Amino acid sequence: MADEIAKAQTAQPGGDTIFGKIIRKEIPAKIFYEDEQCIAFHDIAPQAPTHFLVVPKKPIPQLSKAEDSDAALLGHLMIVAKKCAAEVGLAKGYRLVLNDGPHGGQEVFHLHIHVLGGRQLHWPPG
Ligand code: 5GP
Repeated sequence: MADEIAKAQTAQPGGDTIFGKIIRKEIPAKIFYEDEQCIAFHDIAPQAPTHFLVVPKKPIPQLSKAEDSDAALLGHLMIVAKKCAAEVGLAKGYRLVLNDGPHGGQEVFHLHIHVLGGRQLHWPPG
């Protein structure tokens, strides 16, 4: 698994990523939601007591590469994020994060929304 993470961290836009492998069930992940457009699974290196990712099956590399025609899909990801947050018990709130590009700290170039909760989150982020 460590090798796979290293590959993900050096992935470049345009290439297949570890999330593609998870979507295709080629490698394991704690998937707890799936529909025709997206999946949700727990992050392998959680930054909060609850930390999961909502990932479209369409391999959009990053938000800045999304097209106008992706608007409904992007909205769907947020609706799934809030439904999943409720399902895993984040009744006191949570945070959505979407990292874009090097300055955004993006490591895996397959668009995804982080959902973090289960503790008091602080602001501003680092
Ligand atoms: P990014 O920095 O691109 O916004 O976030 C990528 C996230 O994917 C990180 O939080 C990282 O821990 C997570 N991640 C990387 N590889 C794997 C993996 O193989 N399985 C799971 N479940 N999460 C992963």
